[in-house]
Amino acid sequence: MAYKARVRDIRILLKMRRRKNDLSLFRRITGHRLTLGDSEPIMGIMRILRREPSVAGFWRNRGIPLFSVMGIRVVADYSWFLIVALIVGSLSLGWFPSVLPGRSTVQYVSLGLITAFFFFASVFVHELAHSLVSVLNGIPVRRITLFLFGGVAEISREPSDPTTELKIAMAGPIVSAVLAVIFWGIVILFGLGRGRPAAQSSFLYLAVANTFLLFFNLLPGLPLDGGRVLRALIWRSTGSMRRATYLASMAGKAIAVIMIAVGLLLILAARQIISGLWLIMIAMFLRQAADASYRRAVVNQASHSIRVRDVMTRDVVVVQADATLSDLIERYFLHYHFMCYPVVSAGRLTGYVSIKDVSHIDRNDWGNTSVEAVMTRLTSENVLSPGDTIARAVGVMSARGRGRLVVVQDGELLGIVTRGDIMNREGAPL
Ligand SMILES: [Zn+2]
Repeated sequence: MAYKARVRDIRILLKMRRRKNDLSLFRRITGHRLTLGDSEPIMGIMRILRREPSVAGFWRNRGIPLFSVMGIRVVADYSWFLIVALIVGSLSLGWFPSVLPGRSTVQYVSLGLITAFFFFASVFVHELAHSLVSVLNGIPVRRITLFLFGGVAEISREPSDPTTELKIAMAGPIVSAVLAVIFWGIVILFGLGRGRPAAQSSFLYLAVANTFLLFFNLLPGLPLDGGRVLRALIWRSTGSMRRATYLASMAGKAIAVIMIAVGLLLILAARQIISGLWLIMIAMFLRQAADASYRRAVVNQASHSIRVRDVMTRDVVVVQADATLSDLIERYFLHYHFMCYPVVSAGRLTGYVSIKDVSHIDRNDWGNTSVEAVMTRLTSENVLSPGDTIARAVGVMSARGRGRLVVVQDGELLGIVTRGDIMNREGAPL
């Protein structure tokens, strides 16, 4: 049974394989939920089927919301629970039994839990510092994601000048430095040889961990904080954000290569297999993230110079307002490779309909619901004109939660522009 369902799903996928198609249609038809977001292009599924997760898609859209602080959502990626278990385990089974011999397991586990809590709080406060400085400089923060390799504060856009970049980048390491000084202070002033060895070994661990976080994050390569500092400095001296990003991401890749070499050395020469593998995994993640940082910078820069008319799709298939949703699905969504159709009534453009509009309607009502009833009506905020920049298009798309917008001039439909159209420009010469 499972095999049959899979073959059918792949057939539907192949039918929809062009990247303009959404996962939500796939879900609607097959009833399968995939772990990527609904707006991920179909290429996302193809990647999953070919087992090639991309970093960008992989770390986003998943996880469990923990709490909000100052309007910033804090989300724990599923992979974060793995690192929590690893840290609690290594503290309770390794660190505490070795520095505090002769205690009970219950004591080791409670110390492990308490110390791990303060360790993750330290990571969180580091990200919170980046976020606060970002918000104070007028750049909203979407959310803070905790995951396998630490935390990420997802700022909503790249800083527009190197000084802001520098401030945001330095905020995290400064906080880690302050925490390290506090914990070392406690260890040195109150700890040494004056009883309370349990508390002292906990503080010692936190002091070492925050010192490590500080120096690791200051390594001068993207996506680490030190890489952002490097980028800001090159940006300030050359005036080119793109060039600065390129150099800082190359530095990030070089650091990743060195880390992989050190990891291999640990495994082969020192027989430290777990530490070695761990280092190599982090390095591979950093390498991919360094690449992604550069691509994002290119897209960001392109978005202010490329116009909607340069990327839009001109051959637009239109839907009549009185068509039913069944017609829309059968004759349009499954037939053409477009996922959004302008709607016309008596020859006039009145709105547009995408799979998102259909997804609220029960499948049984598709036959007796008209396209007009679910479509999004045109307003001046959800249409683009051909001279708008890609930056505006992206802004409208994210504000409206839509991946596609129609391009209209003097009431006449000129084309349609999609996230895919914009992303396809990524590699184009600027
Ligand atoms: Zn940081």
